[in-house]
Amino acid sequence: MLRVAVVGSGPSGCYTAQSLVQLDSGVCVDVLDRLPCPYGLVRYGVAPDHEKIKSLQNNLRTVLEHDRVRFLGGVQVGPGGVPAARLRGLYHAVVYCVGAATDRHLGIPGEDLPGSWSATQFVSWYSAHPDAVDGGFLRDARSAVVIGVGNVAVDVTRMLARGLAELSPTDMPQAALTALAASRVTEIHMVGRRGPSQARFTTKELRELGTLPGTDVVADPAELEPDPGYTDPSALPAPQRRNVEVVRGWAESPPADAPHRIHLRFFLRPVELLAEQGHVGAVRFERTAPDGRGGVTGTGRYEDIEAQLVLRSVGYLGVPMEGLPFDARTGTVPNLAGRVLREGVVTPGEYVAGWIKRGPTGVIGTNRPCAKETAMSLLGDAPLLASKNVPDDPLMALRAEGTDPVEWTGWQSIEQAEAELGASLGRGVVKLPDWQSLMTAAHGDVV
Ligand code: NAP
Repeated sequence: MLRVAVVGSGPSGCYTAQSLVQLDSGVCVDVLDRLPCPYGLVRYGVAPDHEKIKSLQNNLRTVLEHDRVRFLGGVQVGPGGVPAARLRGLYHAVVYCVGAATDRHLGIPGEDLPGSWSATQFVSWYSAHPDAVDGGFLRDARSAVVIGVGNVAVDVTRMLARGLAELSPTDMPQAALTALAASRVTEIHMVGRRGPSQARFTTKELRELGTLPGTDVVADPAELEPDPGYTDPSALPAPQRRNVEVVRGWAESPPADAPHRIHLRFFLRPVELLAEQGHVGAVRFERTAPDGRGGVTGTGRYEDIEAQLVLRSVGYLGVPMEGLPFDARTGTVPNLAGRVLREGVVTPGEYVAGWIKRGPTGVIGTNRPCAKETAMSLLGDAPLLASKNVPDDPLMALRAEGTDPVEWTGWQSIEQAEAELGASLGRGVVKLPDWQSLMTAAHGDVV
């Protein structure tokens, strides 16, 4: 029997566990997570109003309920928890599926002013991540700037425009629901530094902005025209061409008089966040122009956009894991088809999958083939790995050393507590937003 630890229970961790047990009937997998709850970004990243994507949890659930898979929540690997070296001693192999845990920075003056947040902080708050802070994001805000034009930018823009009727059927925590429902933000500017044909959002997500009740989406044709892909989209790949067509539709529509406006802005790069009485009051952008090579150059012309709330949505970044090599430039662990490389040499027994392997790109389904490749590499090394001496049951060893994981039944108790909380509020399932209530529920006590 080959015992494998998968660190991280998001899509890449679950798909890795699935591939391992499907490809080899002699493998047992423990899926460890720092949180008492499984599913990673499917639980704490997918927007609450994206029911269909969230329902992927049901697929991941079947993996974690497999006979030869165990979920062990509330287990920190690394400083303050189980040292990585100890974990390697407990299992024949360890696969790190820890994602990209932080956000990229802009590196411009004023970035850390009050009122300026990473989109990740905002997403964590409305997704009830237990480490999230309630930053009073919407307090006194009338105008918001979202920097970046990827799918996360679209998510946060949409959440800012949604009203109570659309948000209350979601599982978002009550405090976030109350704050978003009371929001007075009417102008939301989503700003790209390049042109619409180079935006990273997908057409389905983009199009959804045009379906939001009480919301007008506006774009200025004059701002779009410098993009050669906008003026002549015929040579663009289909996904970009469709994006351009959607943006063109909005640019050509007469403005409506809706209570909320989403302004799609392009060819503006952020250069500074400007303060007003100690709080962000505007973002200064430099107008850019295409450089003919897919990038942009500055034009020396500037524009300030008013914003009491700034959400920086410029991508995620992997963080180093104790005991693992790390490429700071890409935010990934150097690897060969999932096998960890130390100074260019494969280290059997250590693997990576998901964003920490390939960087923060792709949709959830992209993790399937990525995880399968890693699982195949690991199973290719199985004859070598199987000769290692490991304890019969790593869980007993972990317990003996003072780690008390939240097992599957503990997670089921959390799910039950969330259903009960929702019922008490006259809503569906409502997520528990803090460590204390999660751990209390996991241990079966009344919340
Ligand atoms: P992303 O797709 O990489 O988009 C990042 C955006 O930030 C780009 O528009 C990028 O512009 C811009 N940017 C980067 N550095 C910048 C800077 N210094 N100044 C101004 N703009 C800057 O990242 P993401 O939106 O965080 O998404 C991460 C992944 O999750 C993606 O694969 C995404 O599709 C996926 N996701 C999917 C869904 C969904 O399917 N519904 C939802 C959320 C996330 P440039 O292109 O010019 O660099």
